[in-house]
Amino acid sequence: MSVGLNIPVVPTPTLAIAGSADRFPVRRIYCVGRNYVDHIREMKEGDERDPPFFFQKPSDAVVPDGATIPYPPDTADFQFEIELVVAIGAGGRNIPLAQALDHVFGYTVGIDLTRRDQQRDMREKMLPWERGKAFDASAPCGALLPAAQVGHPGKGAITLDVNGAEKQRGDLSQMIWNVPEIIANLSASYTLAPGDLIMTGTPAGVGPVVPGDRILGRVEGVGALTITIGPRES
Ligand code: MN
Repeated sequence: MSVGLNIPVVPTPTLAIAGSADRFPVRRIYCVGRNYVDHIREMKEGDERDPPFFFQKPSDAVVPDGATIPYPPDTADFQFEIELVVAIGAGGRNIPLAQALDHVFGYTVGIDLTRRDQQRDMREKMLPWERGKAFDASAPCGALLPAAQVGHPGKGAITLDVNGAEKQRGDLSQMIWNVPEIIANLSASYTLAPGDLIMTGTPAGVGPVVPGDRILGRVEGVGALTITIGPRES
């Protein structure tokens, strides 16, 4: 069989590590939905007491700080969601809450880019969210800060500006599931492994961008991430 001989092996996507020449290989990108009450309210997503849940983006959706991201096809409502990103350094199943932070390699700032019109359409049809969430370049992430250097941020401002105007502001302490709870819950359903990223949900203020917009996301104690929206892809 010669099938595949002309198909190059896909390189593993990686993230920069602040202050290091090493890179962090990305295995999977998990995302938490509904993790800040004020965002659940703005999305009008049913019962506020419903727990957070998980979805995924493809690992090759990561793009680095400073990137220009084309305005994607298949949407007229391309939106930002600022999020704290957790990088897993040690895997496991059924990880106990008390040990969850021992599995964290580090943290960074990420933006869960969303085709909001597709997400809403899929939600109304009770279909999967992939078209709304899991598209090319939908997971910009900054350089990772090792927890060994910065600790584990449990509070601090999480903000996003578009063209210098603040659009989102929340605090990490507002997360419905904190980082240990996210790791414990996620590892009850999936075997976590080194290289997994977890985008931990967004506070209120999400909104649309257009080509030419410059987005600055910041998480206090973790860092900043800047991306620019490029021309519309057809
Ligand atoms: Mn999100």
